[in-house]
Amino acid sequence: MVRITFLGTGGGRFATVYQVRHTGGIYIEAEVNIHLDPGPGAVINLNQLGIDPASTDGVLVSHCHPDHYADAEVLIEGMTRCNFSHRGLVAGSRSVIEGINDHGPAISAYHRRIVSECLSLSPGERFNVGKLEVRTTPTSHSDAEGIGFRFMTKNGIISYVSDSEMVDEVIKAHKGARMLIMCVTRPLGARVKYHMSTEDAAALANEIKPEVAVMTHFGSKFVHDDPEKQAKFVQDKSGIRTIPAVDFMRLSMLKGIKKSMAHFQK
Ligand SMILES: [Zn+2]
Repeated sequence: MVRITFLGTGGGRFATVYQVRHTGGIYIEAEVNIHLDPGPGAVINLNQLGIDPASTDGVLVSHCHPDHYADAEVLIEGMTRCNFSHRGLVAGSRSVIEGINDHGPAISAYHRRIVSECLSLSPGERFNVGKLEVRTTPTSHSDAEGIGFRFMTKNGIISYVSDSEMVDEVIKAHKGARMLIMCVTRPLGARVKYHMSTEDAAALANEIKPEVAVMTHFGSKFVHDDPEKQAKFVQDKSGIRTIPAVDFMRLSMLKGIKKSMAHFQK
């Protein structure tokens, strides 16, 4: 079974600074454990659920904005048992790993060195986290080096679009997804450049036709404009079951896709 836990569902500058929603990224358990886009608070929320950061196998960062990378280094320390074991994989966009123009690097030379593998990625690449194959997808974002990810699990493809505006090459790259996770920063009638709005989410879900569309990475305005209403618009327009993520929500993917809430251990 594949299990996905939302350690945060906020995104964008104001939602992050004021923690309108948490910003701890997404924890994926699919034979291996992956922490995807760990923004501020990721390590706190992981601890609250009693998940040991030392059991993470890969830290993946889609692009070089702090709502996606801020806790990456501390999670790398967790993954390597504070540099006592040389293990784990770090993968990110070129901006995250190498630093490009105004962006990054988001991960220090020390943290790139203490893991067993560090990958600097562009769209259209493939790599493995243990047995799990992961592919990178293009984005159109203010960090021009940004990427999305596709997790080729035994139970189907989980596609993570990351921050992007909708252009043809992005839409094409997510075909075949069973679960489509969209970073929808802006609500209906409030699209801004480089980000997805609710209208974009409806159009993408309609093109891809996944079993489930998940909306996350909500900006401040989005949260105040009723995420349930935004998701209903996407579901009505696309005919696809659409879930507006909430902090600590869990999705289990086996024959069907089931929603639950994670339990606090602390
Ligand atoms: Zn961004």
